[in-house]
Amino acid sequence: MAAAAIEQRARVARALGIAWMSSRPHDLLYRHNAALGPKNDLVLVTLGREDAGRAVRLLRGGKRLELTAKIELESGLPRSAENVIGEIRGSDRPDEVVIVGAHLDSWDLGTGTLDNGCNVALVIDVARQMKRLGLAPRRTIRFALWNGEEQGLYGSLGYVKKHAAELDKHVMAASFDTGTGRIQGFLTGGRADLMPVVDEFLRPVAGLGPFTQVNFATPGTDHYDFMMEGVPSLMADQESATYGPNYHARSDTFDKADARQLKLNAAIAGAVTWGFANRDKALPRLSGTEVEAIVEKTDLKGLMQAFDLYDDYTAGRRGRRP
Ligand SMILES: [Zn+2]
Repeated sequence: MAAAAIEQRARVARALGIAWMSSRPHDLLYRHNAALGPKNDLVLVTLGREDAGRAVRLLRGGKRLELTAKIELESGLPRSAENVIGEIRGSDRPDEVVIVGAHLDSWDLGTGTLDNGCNVALVIDVARQMKRLGLAPRRTIRFALWNGEEQGLYGSLGYVKKHAAELDKHVMAASFDTGTGRIQGFLTGGRADLMPVVDEFLRPVAGLGPFTQVNFATPGTDHYDFMMEGVPSLMADQESATYGPNYHARSDTFDKADARQLKLNAAIAGAVTWGFANRDKALPRLSGTEVEAIVEKTDLKGLMQAFDLYDDYTAGRRGRRP
């Protein structure tokens, strides 16, 4: 969260780039999140923590250091990528849609197991188990594997833009994106009315709890553009487990996944999805004024600024405006 201010100081000082000191031990490398996202134009590299520590000692001792780095990158736009979406059609309200999603793309230092291959498996498993059991939901359930999440939530944004005329009929959009730690509840995106509803839907899996819903609105992951359009949205709130230390790192590999907990999480995801797909009354979509109240009266505005999303919102390029 300090990156935006550090990048700003580097710009003012006309730095050529920034060599970040890894925040993690054992020379672990990871992909640093540039505060400006794709708009970043500084060269950013991450040094292993121990290597950076040595450089700091030498600099403090009065040595002049040089850094030579060969960075192989491709540039040039546009790039395209596809979402993968499957659905089970609703039996009596097929035009009303519940979305359960996770992102398919990942950074390639590691193999992207925790971020986010495991939750792609979760989404597929919910679909597979509903099919296997022959369940017929009243509303349509869409199983969405989003692409381009890591670059700026582009897959889910593309969906929201393409389906803009149908968003009144989108009843809920949930995202799972934090590894295989236990789901301890859901973030309800500034909507207190979602909390008791989710409580109710989790009752059949109460033995996998306890669960606590937290009414917190964050850009976080692919629920964001649904939330900003006033569609009820959820982000799974998971125990950190192995996620934090391996986040965007070369250590995000298969051995870090907890297969048993992932299966239990799929049951939790299934219960919530099923609840929204069958409940008599759907929660209303928020108006632009109501969305604005969440942005301006919670921590969401600051988080949007930290991820360079606020200007697109105020300019009317992204999100529902009053
Ligand atoms: Zn992710």
